[in-house]
Amino acid sequence: MPSTTRLYHEHPTLTEFEARVLRSEPGDDGSLHVVLDQTAFYPTGGGQPHDIGYLQDAPVLDVWENGEEVVHRIDGTELPEAVSARVDWDRRVDHRQQHTGQHILSRAFELVLKASTIGFHLGSEKCTIDLDQLDLSPQKIIEVEDLANRIVTEDHEVRQSWHKDVSELPESIRKSFEAEGDIRLISIGEFDVNPCCGTHCERSGQVGLIKVLKLEKNKNGTRVEFVCGRRALQDYRARHEELGSVARDLTTDALDVRNRVEALRSEHKETRSRLEKADKELRQLLTQAWAEEARKESSSMLVKELDASRQSWMSPLA
Ligand SMILES: [Zn+2]
Repeated sequence: MPSTTRLYHEHPTLTEFEARVLRSEPGDDGSLHVVLDQTAFYPTGGGQPHDIGYLQDAPVLDVWENGEEVVHRIDGTELPEAVSARVDWDRRVDHRQQHTGQHILSRAFELVLKASTIGFHLGSEKCTIDLDQLDLSPQKIIEVEDLANRIVTEDHEVRQSWHKDVSELPESIRKSFEAEGDIRLISIGEFDVNPCCGTHCERSGQVGLIKVLKLEKNKNGTRVEFVCGRRALQDYRARHEELGSVARDLTTDALDVRNRVEALRSEHKETRSRLEKADKELRQLLTQAWAEEARKESSSMLVKELDASRQSWMSPLA
C-alpha cells in the first residue's frame, strides 16, 4: 500500500502545495477517492474534523486516514497525475484556535479543580470537553477561565516534539498512555504537555479569547461547552446584538435589562391579581343579575347561551 507524507505537522501554515496522485477510485456517490504522495490536508482524527479546500478545481469534501495513506474524497470524477492543492485557511485557523484552546482549558481545569478531560469534540458549531467531575461551582469556572486566558495573553510558544518510545515521555502522561509507533507531543510553554495528532497554533496568543458557555451533567461527569478565538468573538457579537435589541424594546440599557424585566414581572403579577379580583366580582354580579331575571320570569332555570371563551371564564362558578 502506498503511503502519504503528512505536511500539516511540520508545515502547519502551508496551504498551497503540489502533489502526485498515487491512486484514485470512484466513490459510491459520484465522488472520487484520491491518495496523494504528500498532503497538507488534515484527516479527521483525535477529536478534530478534517480540512477542506481544493484539488485542482475540485472541492475536497472529506479526508481520512487509511493506514499509511491519507484519502481525499473530492467532488469530481478525474484528476491529472500532478495536482495543485489548496487548503481552506479560515477553517484551519478555526480548528487550530479551538484545539490549542482546548489543551489550555483542559490543563486549567486540572490545575484549578483537579478535573481530568476524558473526551473532546470539535464540531462545526460546538466544542466540548468531558470532565470526570460533577457539580463544578460557578466561582471555580471563573478561576479556570481566568487562568486559561492568562496563558493566552502570556503568548507562550506551542511546540511539537516526536518520540519513539513511551519511556521518553514525561512521567505525568506516561502512566495513562499506550501507543505504537511515533508519539507526537504538543507543549504550550511550561504550562502543558500532551500527546496529540491535531493542528495547533504556533503561539498561545493566537488562540484569542477562551470562554466557557455551558456546563451539563454527562454520565458521572460534566460536559463543558466552550468557544475560542473568532468563534468567541462571533458568540459575543451575537449575544451583544440580541441583548441590545431586547434592551431597546424595553427602552433601557443592556446591563439594566434584568432590573427592567424584574419590574415588568412584578407589574404583571399585580395586574393579574387585580384582574382576577375584578373577574370574580363581575361573575358574582352577573350571577345575581341572572338570578333576578329568573325570579322575574318565575322560572327556576334560566338558559344563557355563552360562547366557548365565556364558558371557561364563567366556569369557576360551576
Ligand atoms: Zn489535542
